[in-house]
Amino acid sequence: MRVICPNCSSKDIGKIGTNQYYCWNCFIEMSVAGDQISSVYQVEEDGSLHSLNDLFIEDQAVPAQFNM
Ligand SMILES: [Zn+2]
Repeated sequence: MRVICPNCSSKDIGKIGTNQYYCWNCFIEMSVAGDQISSVYQVEEDGSLHSLNDLFIEDQAVPAQFNM
């Protein structure tokens, strides 16, 4: 499957695991479920992962705020 980075729209994506991909352009890691990106992580300098789901996973958060 073709994965496009949700952060920078780069197609320069490397596969690092069964359902995991890595963007060589902006250095984020993605977990894929089916044909969708289920999680996005930023890889910190110490190797730990920092979740970016709040920013990139559209199912969460955004719409409700406009109804307040
Ligand atoms: Zn990227």
